[in-house]
Amino acid sequence: MTTATHPFDALMDITTRPPTVFVRGEGSWLWDDTGKRYLDFVQGWAVNCLGHSPSQVVEALTEQAKLLLTPSPAFYNAPSLELAKALVDRSCFDQVFFANSGAEANEGAIKLARKFGAMKRSGSHEIITFEGGFHGRTLATMSASGKKAFEPLFEPKVSGFPKAQLNDLASVRRLISDKTIAVMIEPIQGEAGVWPATDQFLRDLRSMTRAHGLLLIVDEIQTGMGRTGQLFHYEHAGIEPDIMTLGKGIGGGVPLAALLATEAASCFEHGDQGGTFNGNPLMCAAGLAVLKRVSEPNFLKSVVDAGAYLESELQRISARHGLGEVRGRGLLLALDLKLPIGASVVAQALQDGVLLNSPQPDALRFMPALNVTRAEISGMIDCLDAILTRMGAARRVA
Ligand SMILES: *Cc1c(COP(=O)(O)O)cnc(C)c1O
Repeated sequence: MTTATHPFDALMDITTRPPTVFVRGEGSWLWDDTGKRYLDFVQGWAVNCLGHSPSQVVEALTEQAKLLLTPSPAFYNAPSLELAKALVDRSCFDQVFFANSGAEANEGAIKLARKFGAMKRSGSHEIITFEGGFHGRTLATMSASGKKAFEPLFEPKVSGFPKAQLNDLASVRRLISDKTIAVMIEPIQGEAGVWPATDQFLRDLRSMTRAHGLLLIVDEIQTGMGRTGQLFHYEHAGIEPDIMTLGKGIGGGVPLAALLATEAASCFEHGDQGGTFNGNPLMCAAGLAVLKRVSEPNFLKSVVDAGAYLESELQRISARHGLGEVRGRGLLLALDLKLPIGASVVAQALQDGVLLNSPQPDALRFMPALNVTRAEISGMIDCLDAILTRMGAARRVA
């Protein structure tokens, strides 16, 4: 037995974390163990779609915890049946498999596509993915990701994920062969810095995959559950994919993810897929509470309105400080800083009591709660404005 010398030492050091311990959250606000309050525009990485500890999710978890935690995935339970039905009713998909993380849902999507290839396309198994895409941190999903930093890691990777360029149909067409079974895309590349596929590109991709008999998989782990102003991002483009994955927002803060597929693509046989905690009633009860709230009349309109306000305020800040474009959709937006100052802005904002995220050195990403208020957006903007003013002054002096 060893004794950790510092309370942080017993956790594997897998990322740079500020020496702050968060103890409580409510809506757009977080408190650390010294009582300092923070305005949160990270929200667990676009996870807490209704903010921190929303009453609907807390009540659903409390009621379900008293009833049944988990009977085993080998038995039916009511919340998973109800949530699957609700997701199917509100989407173009027919069947759902629940998972515990986005990566696991994407592993399921990859397996489902490979199964489809094995059963119906004489063993075709390649899945075309995109440079800059992010699909998770399991071996297969890292292999499917087009993140440069992943390239040298954990070799050998899982093979069969040729990479195309986002918004370049010809680059996809060039990779299609008799080995191809699917194309998998993040409709907005979040981790890469919020780079959207155009609606036209998504429509062209749908036509091309149909023409070649390929499955279209959309990874909506970040864009789904109302984040972009539609319940699912694919609705903006007016397309119907064959497979979709959800994560992050679907649980409103608890580990829940889902793999959805059309009837034709739902080809798993007994023994192909499973998992001890998959579809457990506790997490599915939280998912139901989230879906109910997000489906209320005017909820998505309020996301669109809040997104438009955030976008216009970011544009104002950008013009004022000579920064670059604002990109994204709904409440998944990025500000191009034009300089590699993202980490420094994030560090100063933390000092000032605002949590921001810089997915790339020259960009900030904004993923507040979907019910963020105008006042909270203004508060964040004022803080960012002050930081950029200080940094601009420092640059002029230097
Ligand atoms: C976060 C994310 C994942 C991975 O989800 P985890 O729950 O972290 O495994 C996959 N795809 C996209 C688009 C994501 O944003």
